[in-house]
Amino acid sequence: MFDLSGRVAFVTGGNGGIGLGLASGLAKAGAKIMVAARNPAKNAAAVAELRALGAEAEATHTDITDPASITAAIAATIARFGRLDILVNNAGTNIRNRPEAYDEADWHTVVDTNLTSAYLTAKAAHPHLKASGHGRVINNGSMLSIFGMPLHIAYAASKGGIVQFTKALATAWAADGITVNAILPGWIDTDLTRKARGDMPLLNDNVLARTPAKRWGSPQDFEGIAAFLASDAAAFITGTAIPVDGGYSVQG
Ligand code: NDP
Repeated sequence: MFDLSGRVAFVTGGNGGIGLGLASGLAKAGAKIMVAARNPAKNAAAVAELRALGAEAEATHTDITDPASITAAIAATIARFGRLDILVNNAGTNIRNRPEAYDEADWHTVVDTNLTSAYLTAKAAHPHLKASGHGRVINNGSMLSIFGMPLHIAYAASKGGIVQFTKALATAWAADGITVNAILPGWIDTDLTRKARGDMPLLNDNVLARTPAKRWGSPQDFEGIAAFLASDAAAFITGTAIPVDGGYSVQG
């Protein structure tokens, strides 16, 4: 029921952090992985890590803010592995500032990276997901899909959008046998949040105080949800947004 042998996953931002956690979960369940990200050294290291798990893995240099790069990366996946069953829209970024000072170019960078990329990648992947007969899309949201924070207008708008995009896509593609779900990470220890912790001295204490599990999440915490949502076991689960947050979102 949870076996992904023979299935191929395309993971944006799969070269580190949560993306590599998601990719590792899929690889451990038997899937072949295409890592789609920009940094060549991180791409190579992630491929080595995934291969060490026994998976077939490759990387393709991809900038998900560039539609042509996305199209080329999906084509490279089909050329290498011959099929595509699982799309993970994970790559993301954040630029923090007060709304009244927020730069328009920064807004576009965040929304293009976090939201528009998911639509473009899903569109490019659709014929292959449909052909597989059991296509899966997993979109990465955030606690800022459901909460607000004062320095995060573009990030919160993009991550809120991911949840509604997930619901709309789920309704559109259910008849094609494709499920579409979002995951909503709590506070996870990655490069992204290490920078935030440096910039916001109170963040670490606030996260630990608010998270019932009393710890930061790790990329490994995402292995199980990826393998589950991609598997036949989750065939009737679509349009959901599942927190992976140590209880953060239910803490009163
Ligand atoms: P990382 O900074 O470790 O990962 C970000 C990933 O996105 C990297 O692999 C990066 O690769 C890739 N990426 C960024 N921009 C682009 C681009 N233009 N084209 C292709 N790839 C790109 O952070 P996280 O693992 O924390 O973040 C992963 C996702 O999880 C994001 O969507 C983030 O919003 C989300 N998230 C994280 C939380 C946390 O607490 N850490 C909480 C909630 C959500 P490269 O630079 O090589 O291209």
